[in-house]
Amino acid sequence: MTKVLVIYTGGTIGMIKNPETGLLNSFDFNSVYEHIPELNRLHTEIDTMSVTRPIDSSEMSSEDWIQMAKLIQNSYDRYDGFVILHGTDTMSYTASALSFMIKDLQKPVILTGSQLPIGVIRTDGKENLITAIEIAAAKDSNGESIIQEVAVYFEYSLYRGNRSSKVSSHQFEAFKSPNYPELAIAGVNIKYKWSALFRPKQSKPSYNFSLSNSVALLKIYPGMDINLYRGLFDVSKTKGIVLETFGSGNAPSNIEMQSLMKDYVEGGGVIVNITQCSSGGVKQGAYHTSSFFNKIGVISGSDLTVEAAITKLMFALGTESNSDNIKALMATPMCGEMER
Ligand code: ASP
Repeated sequence: MTKVLVIYTGGTIGMIKNPETGLLNSFDFNSVYEHIPELNRLHTEIDTMSVTRPIDSSEMSSEDWIQMAKLIQNSYDRYDGFVILHGTDTMSYTASALSFMIKDLQKPVILTGSQLPIGVIRTDGKENLITAIEIAAAKDSNGESIIQEVAVYFEYSLYRGNRSSKVSSHQFEAFKSPNYPELAIAGVNIKYKWSALFRPKQSKPSYNFSLSNSVALLKIYPGMDINLYRGLFDVSKTKGIVLETFGSGNAPSNIEMQSLMKDYVEGGGVIVNITQCSSGGVKQGAYHTSSFFNKIGVISGSDLTVEAAITKLMFALGTESNSDNIKALMATPMCGEMER
């Protein structure tokens, strides 16, 4: 029988309403079988565990991602797949970070959660959890895991984790993968899109737990006064900046902004250019208003989501010290997170 480890990290899925205060609090996850007896009927052996302190995912930090990656490393050989129950708010950040920290996975790591707590009658949590477990246990005809990457399962769709984004705070369809097809659709059967699945290059996973928090995210807007953000361009404090630009990577030709960025990059800072559009990517040099970025060595983030861009930059700055290597890493796809 296949064996899946379910790790509860917090979020709405594992919460119940405190009748006195009306507030949502985490429940003891070991009692999950009381809430979802259907789990007993899956032909999969399920172990459950909870992190010491389950949290709302708004509280997630890079330390928590490292703790999760280490948990997977320590139990990797004992399970066929992993399901991480996680708050939806930052699920795509966690999925992206895990995809960079764990290279060449041969087993599925599926993140899921829900918009309504499991104790609520109309919960989406039961279906999400049950199907995520089925996907985590699924093998092909050679006995290999069908999914060999970090993915997010939500409301009948399986997405590549580092391609996913939370797009709705109130609909059950809370996630999208704007620039990459779904990996699977769960209908009467689970239909996998075989050609879209990532395959590792090595036969064993490798782990890297170094993440740098010296990264910033800056979204430009018409009329922006760059002086308000001058402090960000201090390379002794901010090692890398993800810049969210207009359309296919464009920004105003503002001399002050340009010289700040030029000095920052010359001083060893890394700037990654991604689009603030909800789909598509950056093509630096397509317009005059983005050609400056090519001249000063801003990295095109292609079609990275903001979640993947920030976590990849944390990873690149944490693992590499040479600025050319950091830039090369940022410009090259690692695990299906971007188009070349
Ligand atoms: N605030 C919650 C969280 O992200 C929302 C959710 O779980 O859906 O932890």
